[in-house]
Amino acid sequence: MSTYATMNEDELRQRVRKLIEAADPDKVDMFTFRGAQFDHGLAWVNFPVGYGGLGLNPKMQVTVADELRKNCKTVYDDLIINPIGIGMGAATVLTYGSDEMKKRLLRPCFTGEEVWCQLFSEPGAGSDVAGLATRAVRDGDDWLLNGQKVWTTLAHISKWGLLVARSNPDLPKHEGMSYFLLDMQAPGVDVRPLYQITGEAEFNEVFLQDVRIPHSRMLGKEGQGWQVALTTLMNERTALGGGSQQRGGGPINVLLQLWKNNRAKGESAAAESVMRDRLTKLYIDAELLRLTSQRARSAQRSGNPGPEGSVGKLAQAELYKKIWECGLDVMGPNSLVYEPGYELRRPASEDRRDRTLMAKYQFLRSRANSIEGGTSEVMRNILGERVLGLPGEPRTDKGIPWKDVPRGG
Ligand SMILES: Cc1cc2nc3c(=O)[nH]c(=O)nc-3n(C[C@H](O)[C@H](O)[C@H](O)COP(=O)(O)OP(=O)(O)OC[C@H]3O[C@@H](n4cnc5c(N)ncnc54)[C@H](O)[C@@H]3O)c2cc1C
Repeated sequence: MSTYATMNEDELRQRVRKLIEAADPDKVDMFTFRGAQFDHGLAWVNFPVGYGGLGLNPKMQVTVADELRKNCKTVYDDLIINPIGIGMGAATVLTYGSDEMKKRLLRPCFTGEEVWCQLFSEPGAGSDVAGLATRAVRDGDDWLLNGQKVWTTLAHISKWGLLVARSNPDLPKHEGMSYFLLDMQAPGVDVRPLYQITGEAEFNEVFLQDVRIPHSRMLGKEGQGWQVALTTLMNERTALGGGSQQRGGGPINVLLQLWKNNRAKGESAAAESVMRDRLTKLYIDAELLRLTSQRARSAQRSGNPGPEGSVGKLAQAELYKKIWECGLDVMGPNSLVYEPGYELRRPASEDRRDRTLMAKYQFLRSRANSIEGGTSEVMRNILGERVLGLPGEPRTDKGIPWKDVPRGG
């Protein structure tokens, strides 16, 4: 059971206002403001003092966001600035990194000066990521890495990569892995774009050929890679799930606005009633997601989330697909035109500020919600086994050295 420092809501709000006095986000640039936010302990309030936090209960981060929204026009979204670094890398470094790593990495991670990516998935290891084949071989003070990663979001602009590799193939799959922090500019790292149905290439394949990583950049101990990876994955699911923090906010808000703007265009009373029912149901589902996620978060036993994070991840992925499908129906035939086109480009969030464009883009992008960060099927397995205590799936590779487990291609 974690013990948190105490600070009441008023004191925390006062601290946020002091931050604004010191560096008003409407007047200074993003790095300056977010650097000051980190130094005031308001980056992630549950982190220790000196590492961007105040040692408070993580639930109090909502108060920081609320006070900033009330007082400033410029509001930054962590999950756009550095989704992997802030959403899951920081907690992994805090849990398993040396003091030196924490001091060097956490501040530029939060400000967005250094973007991070996650190199877990491989062509032969996605849902079963513990089956991965990228090899790490010790060579003096370094590790030598060879292999291929895939679906690596933001690898093309990243400074750091969270990487799991096989350091001992003679052990069963979960025991023979180690976890590294890779400098994405190191010689031998080759990043190539992968084209998505949105026309964007937000992710990549990454080839590693004789890449050297100093032993000091290992997170956790040799062979502890799976345990460290679970910390990253649980934080990922919490970051990806949870819906909006505000009632009626996020995608459901965009959908309702779209409907208000489009409904005057000659719809019959019967069709309007049917759409009203559908929107009402989606609104209720969005509110249920928000409240269920709050409950799941408050069930967290410590700063790092447990399997409860999979509740929000699963619910959000499935709901957002329904919301954006409804968005297309609200827009009617106009939804069939996709103005940005399908030519390969790197993501630009500015395109999506327009609600109509955002809905069309999100309809396509939301297909990925039930795949990224673990598929909905895998989330159901985790919930069944680790939250509800149902019997586990049969596992035929249990206890067998990884090198002896049959695998395709
Ligand atoms: C937009 C996007 C961004 C991503 N970003 C990253 C990233 O930054 N870094 C990274 O490492 N990875 C990333 N991924 C990869 C993602 O984690 C994997 O795609 C995902 O874990 C599924 O793996 P897979 O694609 O190999 O599918 P597979 O594991 O081959 O699964 C294929 C199908 O089988 C089902 N299935 C598999 N096992 C089971 C089971 N035990 N029970 C029931 N059904 C099962 C799956 O649900 C799925 O429908 C990203 C994916 C997407 C779509």
